[in-house]
Amino acid sequence: MRTGLFGGSFNPIHFGHLRAAEEVREALGLDLVYFIPAALPPHKPGDTLAAADHRLHMVQLATKGNRHFMVSDSELKRAGRSYTVDTIRHFIATMRGRPELYLLLGTDQFMEFETWRECDEIMRLCNLAVHYRPRAGETDSDLSLAAVNRFGYVKEGEHYTNRGGRTLSVIPTTFLPISATMIRGKLALRKSIRYLVPGDVADYIERHSLYL
Ligand code: ATP
Repeated sequence: MRTGLFGGSFNPIHFGHLRAAEEVREALGLDLVYFIPAALPPHKPGDTLAAADHRLHMVQLATKGNRHFMVSDSELKRAGRSYTVDTIRHFIATMRGRPELYLLLGTDQFMEFETWRECDEIMRLCNLAVHYRPRAGETDSDLSLAAVNRFGYVKEGEHYTNRGGRTLSVIPTTFLPISATMIRGKLALRKSIRYLVPGDVADYIERHSLYL
């Protein structure tokens, strides 16, 4: 089973996340993509974080109707900060058979990947699927240099491979320049967020007066 793991604060989930996940799934032929909301993301300030339950519900609403998209509350059930390496171990321990895991992340996260807890172990346990999320001044070759020089991958055709045989795939996806920060900013100003997030998510945010 080729299984994608897509973690994030999803505060809230938006079409940028969903479209990237759909295109990565299609490009790599993944059977499933698990969306995994983080309890306490290690790299984010907590003051604007909506309650875990709300973020989980919004991810459920956003992904329903796509039979390849699943939601996991495994990080929300664990106490403390959400470290991806623990999540990967959880999936390996609990999934039936021998899942082939692909960790989905944007280029912004890949470029700071060495700051992640046990990043070497993550690259040993699973494949990386990096979707392109442009940042000012950053190019494709920065990413390729990082893959080879910082993370020890070797380029092999379309993919990079590491010594353990795990791959790194860089997938050019349709970039929708939406961020959760932008959405929270609009809500704080009582502006519309329609068509930046699925309609059910916009309704949920309104019903629960989130991010005001
Ligand atoms: P915030 O604005 O609160 O920092 P965010 O919109 O960046 O949040 P996260 O939940 O932090 O969303 O992101 C989870 C994952 O989704 C990360 O790997 C990030 O690179 C990716 N991502 C976020 N926004 C987009 C987007 N518009 N297009 C593609 N990938 C995205």
